[in-house]
Amino acid sequence: VIARVSLEIALGREFDYVIPPELESVVKEGCRVLVPFGPRHLPGIVTAIVSDSTYPNPKPIIRVISAEAVVPLPLIKLARWMARYYCCPLEQAMKTVIPEIVRRNRAGWLKRLYVKIAPFKGDLPRLTKRQLQVWHIIEELQEVPFQKLIELAHTTPATVRRLEDLGLIEIVPQTILRDPYANEVVVPTAPLQLNMAQSNALNQIVAALKETQQPKHIESITPSEVDAALAPAPVTEPEVTETSKPSTMPRVFLLHGVTGSGKTEVYLQAIANALAMGRSAIVLVPEIALTPQTVERFRARFIQGPHKTYVAVLHSHLSAGERHDQWQMIRRGQARIVIGARSAIFAPVQSLGLIIVDEEHEHTYKQEESPRYNARDVAIVRAQLENAVVVLGSATPSMESYYNARRGKYRLLELPMRIDGRKMPKVRIIDMRQVYTKDGYHPTISPQLHEAITQRLERGEQVILFINRRGYASLLECTLCGYVARCPNCSVTMTFHRSKDILLCHVCGETQPAPDKCPNERCGNRQIKFVGLGTERVEHILGKLFPKAKITRMDSDVMDRKEEYRRILGDFRTGKIDILIGTQMIAKGLHFPNVTLVGIIYADLTLHQPDFRAAERTFQLITQVAGRAGRGEFEGEVIVQTFTPFHPAIQFARRHDYQGFFERELQFRAELKYPPLTRVALITLRGRNPDKVHFTARYLRRTLEAVLVGQNIEDVLKTPAVCDFATPPLTTSGDVIISGPAPAPLFKAHSYYRFQIMLRTRYMMSLVDKLARVQAEFPLPDDVSMTVDIDPLEMS
Ligand SMILES: [Zn+2]
Ligand SMILES: [Zn+2]
Repeated sequence: VIARVSLEIALGREFDYVIPPELESVVKEGCRVLVPFGPRHLPGIVTAIVSDSTYPNPKPIIRVISAEAVVPLPLIKLARWMARYYCCPLEQAMKTVIPEIVRRNRAGWLKRLYVKIAPFKGDLPRLTKRQLQVWHIIEELQEVPFQKLIELAHTTPATVRRLEDLGLIEIVPQTILRDPYANEVVVPTAPLQLNMAQSNALNQIVAALKETQQPKHIESITPSEVDAALAPAPVTEPEVTETSKPSTMPRVFLLHGVTGSGKTEVYLQAIANALAMGRSAIVLVPEIALTPQTVERFRARFIQGPHKTYVAVLHSHLSAGERHDQWQMIRRGQARIVIGARSAIFAPVQSLGLIIVDEEHEHTYKQEESPRYNARDVAIVRAQLENAVVVLGSATPSMESYYNARRGKYRLLELPMRIDGRKMPKVRIIDMRQVYTKDGYHPTISPQLHEAITQRLERGEQVILFINRRGYASLLECTLCGYVARCPNCSVTMTFHRSKDILLCHVCGETQPAPDKCPNERCGNRQIKFVGLGTERVEHILGKLFPKAKITRMDSDVMDRKEEYRRILGDFRTGKIDILIGTQMIAKGLHFPNVTLVGIIYADLTLHQPDFRAAERTFQLITQVAGRAGRGEFEGEVIVQTFTPFHPAIQFARRHDYQGFFERELQFRAELKYPPLTRVALITLRGRNPDKVHFTARYLRRTLEAVLVGQNIEDVLKTPAVCDFATPPLTTSGDVIISGPAPAPLFKAHSYYRFQIMLRTRYMMSLVDKLARVQAEFPLPDDVSMTVDIDPLEMS
């Protein structure tokens, strides 16, 4: 019998090993083994058991590292799918699926000695006064950590050991759970009364849970199944309205609920139903929204009652020990709910029933390094492998998800109203083209926003101001010679950070001291102009306008420390801060009842990004930020300052009209054949010599074209590389549209020049297999590298 093993080193394939007879009963798929590899012994994971090997003389496995099947089988299948779909080596996908701490056995359970009262009969033996005192403490507590007893009783280990010798107590090691949220106070909660829309959503989810209750063993997921799950719904598919048509994908729901519409309560009650059926649940939230309050809401509901279970938490800030404990608790079935950021989608839960992806449109679900997976899409594939139900929730669904819901591929659940009859905030658009100061400039704070802030401060209400850029000014410009400070490594300007008095590149982190005069030697002008706003400057200006207000800034410059983030949110909650200024960090899921005004200082910042999703992102941002206003008893107001007041993204956001925006944006996407009508694969080539990168990119483009129409890559590569300047910007090969190579929007980053080729298709599974061949065989020059990004969200 042969075991197929994925090794830790990046070789891009698996190896076969013979299972020796004495290990036959213990070697299973998912267990970790030590195998010979050349002169070395390497750890690996058994990914399959097969009867035949294609290798001539497979060597035997040396030993099993951990006999418990560490990795549940569906996760191995999921890793296999990820490697294929996201064009990365299997071992890299495995590393993503299984945390390092588990793979390498770097941490175990933390054991502490406990003192417990022993079951003894008869009279108490004669004790010294000291022993008696210690005994009384133990008798009262029944069970106490050894170390704590020593401190409590002001005694010595010897005294306690003596009591053990007398048979009065037992000293035993016990596992201590390292729980990152152990110190949070949790008050149990009961399910809330649902409104009509909420109950309808819940009923449909519960019905799907019942439909999928039979465990289904899927051997592997075929390309057509993946395409069925992830490909855009066909354009010819008629639109679905309400519940007119049974869906082909009953397992994926899109819960579209306006901000404050009570989505979380639907999640909580859906989870309770899954638990009642003996199944588990995974809840994904964006990392930034994974606050102690969020965790507490879930723990509070399941800390007692019929569905009592431990709620595990997984995110990137856990210590090694905490991660180990949480992972093992989940794998053993002791934690049946997992809440976490992106990587929690790989939680090894048993009998998975429900996956919730909250704020499904969030870009943080996408990993920006290999494997470049999107946790939302992985959730859909995992659910298919394990016969589970997926709920994607958002107030501003991604174009992709809403499109699939409208075409009947997902089931659309709508929560159109805020709970308790609260009104949506009123959104006012300020046309900044019409607003001037006395000296003829456009001010940072319009008179309308100034007035609105003044009112709130007088009434003791709170204000959030949003600007999507940190720093003081996005560029420094000499008023005489036109000199602009640029990063030497990247094709961007340096941002001025006033608090540190430096120029900083937001791409590569290059810093320079801020100049006090023009660095151009022939100029030396002392008049340097600050152009472009950032959070620091807004804070500075506000401090002058409202000297008595307590103003705090929250962006990644301030937020280097996790504790600082918690402290500021705490201070804001308790009213110690009047005005909170921040980047998108403050746009997500925060709930402050006393905030009645939200100001967006410069809405155009996201709108002008060179990305086909710029309008979608702006619409989402305004809606999400606006959602922070009026969540308490007072009505909220939103003021949006912009120089393009009639842009559809801004106008539809003003009217809270998601559907209107969707229809309009879909027309634009359809004309250009962009997602959601297609899926994108983005190939980026990088190198220090721009001409060489460009040449390689053109050769790659020609190779791709030939391979996509079915030519053999070896034959294609036999013809010499020629510089083909006549390449049209766009061609179609088979089902694929190819465009580029074009300089990347961020042409130079970290001293590397970048060119991109974009491929668009409806059938990604057939494209990725071809891309993998090209990736493996295409002869890259030494100093040019290639990355393939499937379903990219950042086009930079
Ligand atoms: Zn100058
Ligand atoms: Zn730079």
